[in-house]
Amino acid sequence: MWELAGHSRAIRLFQQSLSSGQLSHAYLLVGPAHVGKSTLARNLAQAVNCESADPPCQECTSCRRIAASKHSDVHTVDLLSLEKKEIGIRQIAEMQNVAHLPPFEGRCKVFIFDRAEMLSHEAANSLLKTLEEPPPNTLMILLTARESALLPTIASRCQRVELRPLPLQAMTDLLVKDYRVAPEKADLLARLSRGCPGWAIAALRDEAILSDREQRMAEIASICSAGTPDRLAYAADLAALFSKSRDKVAGILGMWLEWWRDLLLVKCGNGQWVINADQKARLLAQAEKLAPKSVAAFLRDIAAAGEQLELNANPRLALEVLMLRMP
Ligand SMILES: [Zn+2]
Repeated sequence: MWELAGHSRAIRLFQQSLSSGQLSHAYLLVGPAHVGKSTLARNLAQAVNCESADPPCQECTSCRRIAASKHSDVHTVDLLSLEKKEIGIRQIAEMQNVAHLPPFEGRCKVFIFDRAEMLSHEAANSLLKTLEEPPPNTLMILLTARESALLPTIASRCQRVELRPLPLQAMTDLLVKDYRVAPEKADLLARLSRGCPGWAIAALRDEAILSDREQRMAEIASICSAGTPDRLAYAADLAALFSKSRDKVAGILGMWLEWWRDLLLVKCGNGQWVINADQKARLLAQAEKLAPKSVAAFLRDIAAAGEQLELNANPRLALEVLMLRMP
């Protein structure tokens, strides 16, 4: 059974390649965070090593060991486990050493590179050699949410499979039918997940995800109506957080973008498309006081602040300027 939720076309493609024996030696799975890339990579690793006639069965020893990350022929290279800022040449050299040995307990060695765009230039060039002359019985699976940051020569040596966010209705239906979520909650989760099943499923399993989000939303709404001193204090707090976790601040700026995008939608009479459907009363109240032009301008300001932070601008300055520009 393929565990990947909502991407039947991608599953069919792999089922056909598996049954016809025409699986590529390398895949590049492209799509936003939580869309299902890691699940698909794990299911593929299971499928090529499964002991049953209907792979991946999720029941044989091989499938279960891969699900528990205990299979000795399935290796994941990711930044989280490395605690590093990029995937370096050493990790690739280690992978190459293992790749040239025969499989130990399965039929095929699988190497999964999470956030493949974080390969250093040196590491990418070294990986290129393995992609050009793949050792027998190996499968390379590269995952990325930022395809443009990947070396084009790497991308061109992999078969590209794109996982797109699911449409709102498809995502809602999936949650109602497969996860027995009440329709109203399913609709909200589908919107908040931006069509990425992994996010919605994680939010169902961990209540803290939704309560954290609610807290952030209340914060955003209160800063929108706050005076300059509170806005500047908020910018200082965000800048301090940025020094500890860039990803968290990027996530919060993403929420700001969505909030102001929702304001614009409400302002233009397209409230049915808002992401924060549970915040409609707040959105309507704020939108009343704003001109569409100033909402659009501030949306551009938020995006610009995000880009400046990525380019290592002074975080406090960039965030203070953003707060001062808010209409
Ligand atoms: Zn199996």
